[in-house]
Amino acid sequence: MKALIVGGGIGGLTTALALDGIGWDVRVLEQAPEISEVGAGVQISPNGMKVLEKLGVVPRIEHTLFQPDAIEIRHGPTGRRFFNLPMKAIAAERWGARYIQIHRADLVDGLLGELRERQPDAVQTGARVQSYETSSKGASVTLTDGTRHEADLIVGADGLHSAIRTQMLGPDAPTFTGNIAWRTVVPAAALGADAPPQAGCVWTGPGKHAVTTRVRGGDMVNFVGIVEEDSWTEEGWSITGTAAEAKADFGGWNPTLDAILDAAPQLHRWALFTRDPLERWSDGAVALLGDAAHPMLPSMAQGAVQAMEDAWVLARELDKGGMISAALERYFAARIDRVTRVQKESAANLALFHRRSVLSQAQAYVPIWIAGKVAPALLWRRNDWLYGADFA
Ligand SMILES: Cc1cc2nc3c(=O)[nH]c(=O)nc-3n(C[C@H](O)[C@H](O)[C@H](O)COP(=O)(O)OP(=O)(O)OC[C@H]3O[C@@H](n4cnc5c(N)ncnc54)[C@H](O)[C@@H]3O)c2cc1C
Repeated sequence: MKALIVGGGIGGLTTALALDGIGWDVRVLEQAPEISEVGAGVQISPNGMKVLEKLGVVPRIEHTLFQPDAIEIRHGPTGRRFFNLPMKAIAAERWGARYIQIHRADLVDGLLGELRERQPDAVQTGARVQSYETSSKGASVTLTDGTRHEADLIVGADGLHSAIRTQMLGPDAPTFTGNIAWRTVVPAAALGADAPPQAGCVWTGPGKHAVTTRVRGGDMVNFVGIVEEDSWTEEGWSITGTAAEAKADFGGWNPTLDAILDAAPQLHRWALFTRDPLERWSDGAVALLGDAAHPMLPSMAQGAVQAMEDAWVLARELDKGGMISAALERYFAARIDRVTRVQKESAANLALFHRRSVLSQAQAYVPIWIAGKVAPALLWRRNDWLYGADFA
C-alpha cells in the first residue's frame, strides 16, 4: 500500500513513520526547498512522547531533550509564583512517559533521520500540491508543476492554510483569535541569575501571557509571548518584529523577561488563528491531519502533540484492513471529540491567563494554589484524560 503525505511538518513526518510502521510505502511531498523547522521550542507532553517512543524516534532526540522540573504559573508583572505542579518526578509513573521540551529543529531532525533510515527516498521537497482527485482505486494529487502522483491514500498534513482542506470542504478562512505571539530563543548563560526556572513557566497578566521553556538540553531558553492585539494579523513563522515592539508588550514585567528581551538576537511574531471543528476529515481515500484538520491556540501546548496522536490513530485504523474510506471515517470518529475538547480548553486557558483584575486572578489561582499545597494529586488528576491517553 502506498500513501502520499502532503506537508513535511511535525504532523506529516510523524504520519510517514506511523504508516511505515504498518508496512506502507510513504512519500512526503513538501513545498519548501528543504525540510526544516523554525528556531523555536515545542513542549511534548506524555501523550505525544508515547507516540514518539512507539515510532522509535526517542533515541535520536534523547541528547537534546529537556525535562522540566514542573509546570509553573507566575504573576508576570511581579514574577511571584502562583503555583508549581511537579512534573519530572511524576510524569512517567502517572502518565506513562516523560514531559519534555525540545527545539523544533531537533525534533524534525529526529523524525526525518528515522524516516530516511527506513525509507531513504520518502521525502520529496520543492513539491507544492495544488489539488487532489479521488478514484475507485484510491486518489491522486497534482503538483503546481503539473506532475501527478497516485496512491492508495492521500494525507493532507499541510497546515493551517491546507490546500487539501480547502478543496475538501470549500474555501473558508481560519478565524483570527485576536492574539499575536512573539518568540525568541536565547542562551541560558546570557541571562545569568535572571534565567527563568527550569520549568514550563507561564507568566500571566492582563490581556497577555508569556511562556518560558528550555531547549537543547537546557542550554537555551525559549520565549513565547502572547498578546491580545487586533490591528495586526499577519501569519507566518518568519515575520520579525523589533525589540522595542516586544518590550512595549512585555518589557518592565520582571527581570527574567527583561533579560530575555535584552539578549534576544531576533524576535519573530505572528498572528494566531484557529478554526471551528470540521464536520469531516476525509473524502474517499483523502484525509486531513494536524493543523490542517484542527488548528488550536498554543495555550495547552498540544497542536503538535495532537498531530502525533492523529498519526498513530490513523495508522491503527488503516492497519485493521478493509476499505480505506471506512478506516478514515473511523479515524475521524476516534479523534474528533478529543481534539475538539483540546481546542476548547486551549481557548479557555488563554482567557484564564489573560484575566485583567486582581480579584478575578485570585478567584482563578487561589483554589489551584491551595490544591497544589494540600492535594497535588487533584491537579494531576485534571490532566489524566489528556496526558494519560495511550492509543494501543
Ligand atoms: C506559539 C506557538 C507555540 C506552540 N507550542 C506548541 C507546543 O509547545 N506543543 C505542541 O504540541 N504544539 C505547539 N504549537 C502548535 C504546533 O506548532 C502546531 O500544531 C504543529 O506544528 C502543526 O504541525 P502540522 O505538521 O500539522 O502543520 P505545519 O507545521 O504547518 O506543517 C505543514 C507543512 O505543510 C507544508 N505545505 C503546506 N501547503 C503545502 C502544499 N500545498 N504542498 C506541499 N506542502 C505544503 C508546509 O510547508 C509545512 O511544512 C505551538 C504553536 C504556536 C503558534
